[in-house]
Amino acid sequence: MTRIFSWPSIDDAPVARGGPGIGRRLLTLSQRLAAQRYRPAVYALLATVIGCGIVLSVMMERTTAQIRLRSAPLFEHQVPLLGELAHLEDATQRYHHAINRLEGRRGAVERFLETDEAFGEDLTLGLARLREGMGDDPEVAQLRTVASRITRAGPRYAQALAAQQAPRRAERTMLAAINRDLIKLRDTIQVLEGRSRAAITASSNATEASVAGITRMVHMFNVLSLLTAIFMMYHIWVRFRSEDELAHQAGHDPLTGLPDRRTFELRLQELPEQPYTVVLGTIDRFGAVVGGYGHGFGDRMIQSLVARIDATAQRHGGQVFRLDGANIAVLYRLARHDPALADATDALLCSVRTPFTCDNHELFSSLSLGAAGFPDDGITPGALLRNADAALRQARRAGGDQLLAYSRELNARTEHRLGLEAGLRRAIERGELEVYYQPQQCLSTNALVGFEALLRWRHRGEMVPPSEFIPLAEETGQIIALGNWVLRQVCQQAALWQRLGAQPLTIAVNISPRHFSHGSFLDNVCQALHASGARPDTIELEITEGVVFAGGERAIDVLRALRELGLQLSIDDFGTGYSSLAYLKRFPIHKLKIDQSFVRHLAPHTGDAQIVQAVIGLGHNLGLSVIAEGVETEQQYAMLRGWRCDEIQGHYYAFPLNAAEATAFIVQASMAGGHAAPAPAALAG
Ligand code: C2E
Ligand code: MG
Ligand code: MG
Repeated sequence: MTRIFSWPSIDDAPVARGGPGIGRRLLTLSQRLAAQRYRPAVYALLATVIGCGIVLSVMMERTTAQIRLRSAPLFEHQVPLLGELAHLEDATQRYHHAINRLEGRRGAVERFLETDEAFGEDLTLGLARLREGMGDDPEVAQLRTVASRITRAGPRYAQALAAQQAPRRAERTMLAAINRDLIKLRDTIQVLEGRSRAAITASSNATEASVAGITRMVHMFNVLSLLTAIFMMYHIWVRFRSEDELAHQAGHDPLTGLPDRRTFELRLQELPEQPYTVVLGTIDRFGAVVGGYGHGFGDRMIQSLVARIDATAQRHGGQVFRLDGANIAVLYRLARHDPALADATDALLCSVRTPFTCDNHELFSSLSLGAAGFPDDGITPGALLRNADAALRQARRAGGDQLLAYSRELNARTEHRLGLEAGLRRAIERGELEVYYQPQQCLSTNALVGFEALLRWRHRGEMVPPSEFIPLAEETGQIIALGNWVLRQVCQQAALWQRLGAQPLTIAVNISPRHFSHGSFLDNVCQALHASGARPDTIELEITEGVVFAGGERAIDVLRALRELGLQLSIDDFGTGYSSLAYLKRFPIHKLKIDQSFVRHLAPHTGDAQIVQAVIGLGHNLGLSVIAEGVETEQQYAMLRGWRCDEIQGHYYAFPLNAAEATAFIVQASMAGGHAAPAPAALAG
């Protein structure tokens, strides 16, 4: 199991909002695809409903017209006719009763005659209406014939009764004839009534059939509309959910589900003018994790870690935003000096420190935080962000795993740094850089054996110490351009000294880790050698332990290639990094440079003395030469010489010199050491 950075366990971490949890709220992809696939069906259904609606309207219009056509004669003729026939039937019935009551009661003749008269009027009127409604119908004609017979026979019978002249038998015959005619009259009326009723029934049956047909169609249309409406509702629901999802995505980071940078900026602008604090954070060494384990692994770590940060921040009333990569922002409605804010940010730092296991790796990481509060550290969102960012950078530079709050001094430092950064970008073209050469002495012969090239920068008339601008160049990537420039200068200087016949000297060039691991490094070295014509064995490259140990096999390959080119290689500041003796054995190097921190307080029987002796012994046992740097005193010189250290470099022997001074130094040294030296004038040229 490899131990790298601390990281919360993916398994035990709460589900990130962008992970599976989001699926519960938002539509699945298959649902969305299904909705898209149904689109032609939606159009087809809608077209069908519209078409059916039009057809149905036309059909309803036609059916209504038919019904109206059918029912008009009914209401105009048949129904009044039926009423008329019923009236005639009643009248006939009444006449029948009246004439039968007359028999044997002669005194009632007067009253009968009145009935007869009324009956006659009813018949006349009724027949006239029947003729109007039914025309020259044979039944009507028959009715008329029978009716006129009755109206003629009735009064005659009544008068015969009143006069008492006719024999009784004749009276009965007359009455029987009238009764027969009355029955015929009633039958004929009933036949006509039956016909009329049949016509009404036929018409209403046809109407009912039409109404039933159209009603069925309306029901079918309703069912179709209902189904379409349900389908459309589903479709619209899917669409609304997609819109919701899009709206959510527009303001949220897809990986973590947290609100994104844009939302954060909007949120800052909306905040009321009450104290709040902006905390910017970044996961330390996240780039190394991604570089080593890939982006997929990095994504899972971000998801998991951000879930922890979010949960912790929420417990303290903070809102988390993912800005990009490993960068987050947390917004607290607390003043920056509020003790509750210190608790909240401490909890954030702790939440990331807890180690966890993923893919068989136990990972350890940490968080850097920078805070700026409204209104003390800025009153506009832009100023707050700038200041929180400056604090964050400072926290990272100080090693990470901590919170730094913005302060005016920090701001001044940041501004100074930014000024230096901008100045450094133009330092080469402005001719502000110069290479100095610090002489190195052989302890067995006391002769000058070489120089270390040290870069100097005069910015706005003042020297900027390398300890300030070299790390800055390293951080901003400008070290590659600077390193190449130094390489070219040194190679040219070495070639010049060679051409002028100086004794063989080595010039050591400091190579930064970033420059060494850059893909074009080998080419740059070759170009510098080629362009200058310098002998490769007069150039020494100083590399720090960390570079080679962290670079692994690739670093060893580069070192081998450099050695094949004929260059000298040394390990600078030896003893200050995480040296691996196993690796050291495999490095194709020539020299170890004991760091000046061991030399500075060198005195007999001290720990430093033990270390320096041990390094000298180690170097010699590995077949390497050893140089001690930072030698300032005679005592240091004597001790190192006594321990058989090969070379020294330091103020005791010489300070760093510019090119002209170094040339003069070579001349002097060669004269003092008995070496054949060129004329000083020629060397200076
Ligand atoms: P370094 O490579 O360890 O260089 C030795 C440093 O010790 C130099 O500091 C030198 O001036 C200083 N020094 C030499 N003798 C003595 C002494 O007796 N006493 C004291 N106190 N100091 C002494 P300098 O020039 O300030 O450079 C500092 C560091 O900057 C160098 O440490 C090196 O790491 C880096 N550096 C300088 N020039 C370059 C360069 O061209 N490229 C790169 N990548 N780094 C450079
Ligand atoms: Mg050095
Ligand atoms: Mg050094």
